Amino acid sequence: LTQTAEPVVHSLGEAAQFLRDARRVAVMAHVNPDADAIGSVLGLTRGLQSLGKDAVGALSDRVPEYALFLAGADAIRSTLPPDLEAIVCVDAAGVDRVGALYEENRDLFDRVPVLNVDHHHTNPLFGTVNFVDALASSTAELVFRLLTALEIQIDPPTATVLLFGIVGDTGSFQNGATTAGALETAGKLVGLGADNQGVAYYLFERKSFAAARLWGEIVGSIELDARRKIVFGVMSQRMLQSTGATAEETEGVAEYLRGISEAETVMLLKENPDGSLRLSMRSRPGVDVSRIASAFGGGGHRQAAGATVDGPPRAAKRALVEAYDRLLGA
Ligand code: 5GP
Ligand code: MN
Repeated sequence: LTQTAEPVVHSLGEAAQFLRDARRVAVMAHVNPDADAIGSVLGLTRGLQSLGKDAVGALSDRVPEYALFLAGADAIRSTLPPDLEAIVCVDAAGVDRVGALYEENRDLFDRVPVLNVDHHHTNPLFGTVNFVDALASSTAELVFRLLTALEIQIDPPTATVLLFGIVGDTGSFQNGATTAGALETAGKLVGLGADNQGVAYYLFERKSFAAARLWGEIVGSIELDARRKIVFGVMSQRMLQSTGATAEETEGVAEYLRGISEAETVMLLKENPDGSLRLSMRSRPGVDVSRIASAFGGGGHRQAAGATVDGPPRAAKRALVEAYDRLLGA
């Protein structure tokens, strides 16, 4: 990666100039893309295309069902086109979070300039240009700032994808990411014709019958560490098989568990096919789970962070409690 010796945060103007200069560009986000990742890829790709640029959106994992209604979702690629001249990473807390698209194109990442647009405070500023604002609600809010700086006319479908990102990362304006900027930007996007009812339905209400049963299995698995105020949940491969649901349909379970009044921290362990575990943490204000995630090689936000940890769940819980005591214990 072509990096300056001293990683720095660049201004909106510098990031906008990077995009003005870019012609053939791919916009990518993190593995297991969430609403903010998808909305940011689509919003920036559509905006750049409206400037006549050869811009494509690409993701290492496929677009989840709940995002397929978004304009341009069907055009998101899983491989990169040839002859790219620039790369934009959005919502990627580190370049490795881009996944296979990074692993399989490391030479390209070394060769062309990379714009890093993100709001994770653990972001190591891996780009040639880093437009990173840890106080932003979402990367979609940063994409809105970029499109505005580029004087791009935001059409209703583009407004919808950006609202999708903001609503996703703020948990429908309920969690700690719900800043004035989130509300102001959402207001502008609704004014530009964003389909806020559609966003709310696809993000929070719509679910398959199988997913509802999977949620039941996960909620049935929870354990409370009353002293530390930690709720543990497990999603096993067996649960996926018995319900017929997919791992991506667990989106939202961790937030649901965070509402448990006896708890301040949620640690949800989702078993991968190879037996490793995807750790999804959520916490109440005052508990910084990103520190625990970082200790396991992951990262994220203070109140929403994740990592991949070794199984089985029993051993993972012990290691997590140990890390909790060491890093956050009184
Ligand atoms: P989730 O629990 O929804 O998968 O992730 C919560 C937050 O933590 C997201 O902002 C996500 O980007 C971040 N995150 C999750 N897993 C990892 C990881 O392995 N590494 C890093 N750096 N961030 C992660
Ligand atoms: Mn985000």
